[in-house]
Amino acid sequence: MEGFTWAFETGLKLGFGVKRASNKRVGRHTSLKQDYFACPMGGRCPVNNDADALMRANTVTAWCNCKFQMKIVEIQENKWNFVMLFGFHNHALTLYCDGDRYFAKFDEEELAYIDAQVRAHVRPAIISAGLHQRNPEKSRPNRRQIYNRSQKVRAEERDGRNPVQHMIALAVQHKYVHYWVTDRETEELTHVFMAHPEAVKMFRSYYYVVLINSTYKTNLYRLPLVEMVGVTPVGKTFVIAYALVTHESEDGYRWVLQKRKALLNDVVQPNVIVTDCEQGLLNAIPTVFPESSHLLCLWHIYANVEMRALHITGRDSWDKFITCNLFKAVVEAET
Ligand SMILES: [Zn+2]
Repeated sequence: MEGFTWAFETGLKLGFGVKRASNKRVGRHTSLKQDYFACPMGGRCPVNNDADALMRANTVTAWCNCKFQMKIVEIQENKWNFVMLFGFHNHALTLYCDGDRYFAKFDEEELAYIDAQVRAHVRPAIISAGLHQRNPEKSRPNRRQIYNRSQKVRAEERDGRNPVQHMIALAVQHKYVHYWVTDRETEELTHVFMAHPEAVKMFRSYYYVVLINSTYKTNLYRLPLVEMVGVTPVGKTFVIAYALVTHESEDGYRWVLQKRKALLNDVVQPNVIVTDCEQGLLNAIPTVFPESSHLLCLWHIYANVEMRALHITGRDSWDKFITCNLFKAVVEAET
């Protein structure tokens, strides 16, 4: 085995990386080689001399100016001389190579694989498993490495646009029914409404029942996502539209409902609107759909009752209560 390969492999076994620092011939008239090796943690923290690094928030550097250095000289063919120039590391050695960004560094082939998977919208956990399957010998990458790569791919796809501009560009390209409102002073986007053209067709056929629900704190911008769902005569649900609003206020919901109303004509209105107990939404519905009936969603009522009951009784008593009542219900149904 070559001395260099031995140095790399032994380093990996012991828990530190080895990088080639320089590469020279031993003399002018010989093919014998010599090499300096250093620790990849060597080098200064880039924050001191890199203006870019100062701009980036939440970054940490692994470089700690480790001085480890050794020299390997080929004295005869396949005979190597090791000279330890500085034999100490100023950092802890890696105990677990899985997730270590030096040991699990991606090569060209792996990068191409990750890029293809990211473009096909595969989740990072599955990409990670895929990489491990391709090469079980290699240390597993950490999730952050895959996130970083996928962000790079996404940024390339966006072609210089920011995510919001990209979303609107895609909506225009795919002929979504879309509306948006921006703040006059700050020019920030405050309301967005989007509906797929096929969803609009479905909604025009099955407009009788509409379910509306919003989720909070699930996206980067912390905007509540309002989802509107319709029901077909066979009981299947379909998504009518999505909307993002800055505040869960009555005004925000009224805007969303008006845009939803615009998907239908003035005469036709949904018979029933089902929602949870969101006050802003409850206030907005009668002003936009005065003739539609409003129902509270049973699932949400049950979830709230359960949460309250758990708080008062604890998990065990609540489970017993549910089991008991289910039992009673079954007995009653059978008799
Ligand atoms: Zn080191």
